[in-house]
Amino acid sequence: MSSPDVVVIGAGAVGAACAYFAARAGLRVRVLDRGQIAGGTSSACEGNLLVSDKEAGPELDLALHSQRVWHDELAEFGPHWEFESKGGLVVSPSPTGAAALAELTVRQRAAGIEVTNVDPADIADYEPHLKPGMAGAAFYPQDAQVQPMLLTAHLLRFARELGAVVSTGTEVTGFEVSGGRVLGVRTARADGLISAGHVINAAGTWAGQIAALAGVQLPVLPRRGFVLVTEPLPPTVRHKVYAADYVAAVASSDQALQTSPVIEGTRGGTVLIGSSRERVGFDSRVSLPVLSRLAQDAIALFPVLAGVRVLRGYHGFRPYCPDHLPVIGADPRVSGLWHATGHEGAGIGLSVGTAKLLVQQVVGAPTDLDLAPFSPGRFTPHQLTQRGAHALA
Ligand SMILES: Cc1cc2nc3c(=O)[nH]c(=O)nc-3n(C[C@H](O)[C@H](O)[C@H](O)COP(=O)(O)OP(=O)(O)OC[C@H]3O[C@@H](n4cnc5c(N)ncnc54)[C@H](O)[C@@H]3O)c2cc1C
Repeated sequence: MSSPDVVVIGAGAVGAACAYFAARAGLRVRVLDRGQIAGGTSSACEGNLLVSDKEAGPELDLALHSQRVWHDELAEFGPHWEFESKGGLVVSPSPTGAAALAELTVRQRAAGIEVTNVDPADIADYEPHLKPGMAGAAFYPQDAQVQPMLLTAHLLRFARELGAVVSTGTEVTGFEVSGGRVLGVRTARADGLISAGHVINAAGTWAGQIAALAGVQLPVLPRRGFVLVTEPLPPTVRHKVYAADYVAAVASSDQALQTSPVIEGTRGGTVLIGSSRERVGFDSRVSLPVLSRLAQDAIALFPVLAGVRVLRGYHGFRPYCPDHLPVIGADPRVSGLWHATGHEGAGIGLSVGTAKLLVQQVVGAPTDLDLAPFSPGRFTPHQLTQRGAHALA
């Protein structure tokens, strides 16, 4: 397909969801990725679909909208990507943290999140292996999980069944722009120019570089995170379990390393252990101090993990924007350029809601949610020129 209606740059979870919703809307779609399907951050993450870590505001609105998409129109496909409504348990070892968590649950309940405050005496009913003596906890039944690579692959398969063409190993190297309007993209392959009136930038952590090819700035920066994977165990961790200070770590804009224990079992029996956040560019060296901190934090919550072997560790680069909100919508500077990126640590959970909304905007339909808070034009000049906004390899 050399002249599609829409080119989607990026075959990660977000690009795959955009391709699926665009194809479902009757558009002729071509997806381009310089690597493989889910070869970016979508294969270097966990697959949690969380509402529990969000304060009231636009990101929570988007998460609740995405919940509806997961549970309504995509429900029948859940088994393809191992959708599991496992629920999230947030715990606090300190009375101060427990009080802050209780206050957070009040705000979240008012904003539409389902949450149960758990009496310390009942915590073991949720997680028998959790260290005893927690001062407080909250249970979030809406928190769920998918397998991100399966999600990405199946959404692209569905898009292909609706006529989309997916080209891997195809790097976008430039844009054709005339009179402030996108005419298409250039690729490094022999077929060179691909003409299209609409181009969706779903290049994740590299979306700033794609924007720069179109002559505009977008401050998407890498925020590195490591994950440890244990050997398969008998059922040990039933829910996604994390410490209450995780919410503050997610919201922090600090460049320095932050860790906060996030632990979850998987269907295969392995336990995934996170989380770390640091802004170190695209530094892909393994950091033993970070890995050992993750292990220590996990053992502090689940002492049973002390005798368990780690099979492997991996890392990825979250697509981070300075105000922690994704970028979704039309670029006001170049007509026909659309962005669906910058979801930081929530791009799997938010992928389907993002894609549905963006495609509604592309076809000129009313959107289910106001996209103004996610506008690509919202950044200040200072935010646009943050170090490395689009210059990192
Ligand atoms: C450790 C860690 C844990 C995480 N856990 C969760 C979680 O539990 N839940 C959750 O929702 N999110 C989580 N995330 C965040 C989530 O992984 C990301 O938000 C999400 O994967 C972003 O998806 P994407 O499709 O935007 O980007 P990507 O998956 O990175 O896809 C972008 C694609 O663009 C392609 N590309 C780049 N440049 C070009 C070019 N010039 N031409 C063609 N193609 C190009 C890349 O090859 C890549 O395949 C986590 C992230 C990390 C690092």
